[in-house]
Amino acid sequence: MLAIDGTATAEDLQAVLPTPDRRRRGAVAVIECFQEIPCNPCADACPRGAITMPENISQRPVFDPDKCNGCGVCVGRCPGLAIFVVDYSYGEDTALLKIPYEFRPLPQAGDSVTALDRQGAAVGSARVVKVQEQKNRTTILWLAVTAAMATAVRNIRLSGEVRA
Ligand code: SF4
Ligand code: SF4
Repeated sequence: MLAIDGTATAEDLQAVLPTPDRRRRGAVAVIECFQEIPCNPCADACPRGAITMPENISQRPVFDPDKCNGCGVCVGRCPGLAIFVVDYSYGEDTALLKIPYEFRPLPQAGDSVTALDRQGAAVGSARVVKVQEQKNRTTILWLAVTAAMATAVRNIRLSGEVRA
């Protein structure tokens, strides 16, 4: 639970997951921002107006999945590393994820890496499709994972790497 250990509950996560119909239509952001803090880079970053802030900037952002095309610009702008993009239309039984990544060294496109869930537990493997480095912004990793893993995977570990 967020208030106790900083992790979102299944109900929290379900509430921000775009509908199955929207997910079937292609890439879309998933905004896992659950705490009320004064923050708005995501809204400023979105070129399509899909993210807006309530009048009170301390309230959580409001997301319109029908305006989102999954471009991923917001992923690298969120200081809380709370935004992800999922694309279930990527392949048969394969989804494409775009995740923020601030560790070094970076993986390389084509690498097979260990896929981690929100708590850092290994849940399978992922293939790095693209490493999108951005000047003065958080790197965005594009990962191919099985569709069944797409709502669980939120980080990676490089092969052979043991992270404390
Ligand atoms: S993925 Fe692109 S279109 Fe969607 S909310 Fe983020 S910046 Fe906006
Ligand atoms: S930038 Fe990130 S942490 Fe800040 S309001 Fe947007 S989603 Fe939440």
